[in-house]
Amino acid sequence: MRPLVAGNWKMNGLTASLAELASLKEGLAVLGPRLGCDVLVCPPASLIAQAAAAAAGAFALGGQDCHPKGSGAHTGDISAEMLKDAGASFVIVGHSERRQHHGESDGDVAAKAQAAWRAGLKAIICIGETEAQRHAGDANDNCGRQLEGSVPGGASAANTVIAYEPVWAIGTGKIPTAADITAMHDHIRSSLVRRLGEGARGMPILYGGSVKPDNAGEILNLPEVGGALVGGASLKAIDFLSIITAISAS
Ligand code: PEP
Repeated sequence: MRPLVAGNWKMNGLTASLAELASLKEGLAVLGPRLGCDVLVCPPASLIAQAAAAAAGAFALGGQDCHPKGSGAHTGDISAEMLKDAGASFVIVGHSERRQHHGESDGDVAAKAQAAWRAGLKAIICIGETEAQRHAGDANDNCGRQLEGSVPGGASAANTVIAYEPVWAIGTGKIPTAADITAMHDHIRSSLVRRLGEGARGMPILYGGSVKPDNAGEILNLPEVGGALVGGASLKAIDFLSIITAISAS
């Protein structure tokens, strides 16, 4: 399974930020055959079409959210079909910021994942426990419940990526121990296989939460970690390339 390193720009990026993508493309060209992973950037929707032109196939583009419907009276929303039309091949669904700030339920996330598949996009379905849940010993149960509710029955290695993102690790500089990441990824894998069958062994499980150039090598080498979902450190090509290089060298 080739790892995936995905950058989530969140609500950051203007036209000038396309220069970072030009630098990323140059850096990937320098790595050439030493590049050991697939690379994805999820910029704001306003930049996807220009970013796809800038990438020219050197890396993939994705959206950060989509509406379950393909079109209609949903002011301010964007459909999976629109993302695909702009040049995306992935979309993140169920990011904890959407779950927390927009009240998205597991059912909403599952509907968005199905919308992604309908449009021909791969869904990156995010799950992860809060700090209180971890301290209460409820991390496994919480992630199990989120998987059950957010990952539709039709999920396969061909259409879905899981991102384990402990909420307390996002943007905080705090990361779980290597043992905790390994244990959670094992738990996610066995839950997926129990529910979806043996085919789910090929479904990538990314780790996300404060992945930086200096910790990427260690995290990305852990068993069952199929890549990373990177927020802040994906905004600058130099940092994102360091993470990509860490996996390429590992
Ligand atoms: C994220 O928001 O998906 C994320 C992982 O952010 P950061 O890398 O900044 O913690």
